Amino acid sequence: MEKLAILGGKPVRPAPISYGRHYIDEDDIRAVTEVLRKGDLTCGPKIRELEEKLCRITGARYCVAVSSGTAALHIAAMAAQIGPGDEVITTPITFAASANCVLYCGGRPVFADIDPATYNIDPDSIRACITPRTRAVIAVDFTGQAVRLDEIREICREHHLTLIEDAAHAIGTRYKGRPVGSLSDMTAFSFHPVKTVTAGEGGAVTTDSRELYDRLVLARSHGITRDRSQMVHPTDDPWYNEQAGLGYNYRMTDFQAALLISQLDKLPLFSRRRGEIVRRYDRAFRAMPQIQVQEEIPESDTTRHLYILRLRSHTLRCSRREFFDALHGENIYSQVHYLPVYWHSYYESLGYPKGLCPNAEAYYREVMSLPLFYSMTDGDAESVIAAVKKIVDYYRK
Ligand SMILES: *Cc1c(COP(=O)(O)O)cnc(C)c1O
Repeated sequence: MEKLAILGGKPVRPAPISYGRHYIDEDDIRAVTEVLRKGDLTCGPKIRELEEKLCRITGARYCVAVSSGTAALHIAAMAAQIGPGDEVITTPITFAASANCVLYCGGRPVFADIDPATYNIDPDSIRACITPRTRAVIAVDFTGQAVRLDEIREICREHHLTLIEDAAHAIGTRYKGRPVGSLSDMTAFSFHPVKTVTAGEGGAVTTDSRELYDRLVLARSHGITRDRSQMVHPTDDPWYNEQAGLGYNYRMTDFQAALLISQLDKLPLFSRRRGEIVRRYDRAFRAMPQIQVQEEIPESDTTRHLYILRLRSHTLRCSRREFFDALHGENIYSQVHYLPVYWHSYYESLGYPKGLCPNAEAYYREVMSLPLFYSMTDGDAESVIAAVKKIVDYYRK
């Protein structure tokens, strides 16, 4: 039996579409099977090749590939030497991993509010959060748009803070013409399948600092080194390696690296297509006073990861939940990015109160993410626009 749309009639889309979808082609499959047939499965040459490729794309001097974006953030926080008593400022409108990495190190995340127009962390709010215990800032390029890096770098310089950029959404984005990955002390990437390019699971940290790079490499693999210059007790024994610190096993496999190398070849294509869909949505939604379109700073040339539909609630007779359900009824499977991190019950149990960041909380109540991925057709995008228009027309005041 055909399902009926919640608002009556047939759903605008006959088949469901979700907010994100990875894209794998025959080149990707060939790259992976080649490694499986004849390559090393881990710690082999594909890792080095991937790291060199990410350095070329981002303009960074060093790169460390790891098993996830979360691992990337964790080793970046370790390299920044975050520990008990330290505070690290980040945004609440992000995936929990951006703040969890501070907790892994025994530090305390401090949440600065967002800019209500761009949804990125507000530099003035960062300033207001600084205390004598502040050690670092984790700035998230939310939806792929670069944060206000000039202002944030200046704050970090003034207060001697390490700047970690969480660019899980932002591979391919440029700020003032320079690629994300070469603009902060360390930049963390994620290559989970919902992100713009994927390794299945994977992540990386880029940096220009040799000292940070050495710490990142140690943290990735148990803190064990074969480099005599890093040993407390160097010997000539050929088997000798030394655990010089405490690390983890955060290594990526070579077949994942091969997949990502192949995916990165398509990054310009992915960026362009995502941009086309964003412009199509923006044009349509700017004509609807019930919708707030995300503002872009002119410095950011963005490879967009997420498209945020924000309702101007006072112009509609429905809640966000009703709008979300109606979209689902039209076969558009949306998602909400994100619950303010400190609203999670775990953060509540650590003593974070509601009301900390009013702009972030107001944002959360009005948003959902629309489909945005490379293989969408113009027809897909038009059907999403038609569904939004149908729901807006139904609920408008
Ligand atoms: C996806 C994501 C992460 C975590 O990456 P994983 O690869 O899933 O571990 C961290 N921060 C942000 C902003 C993300 O979107």
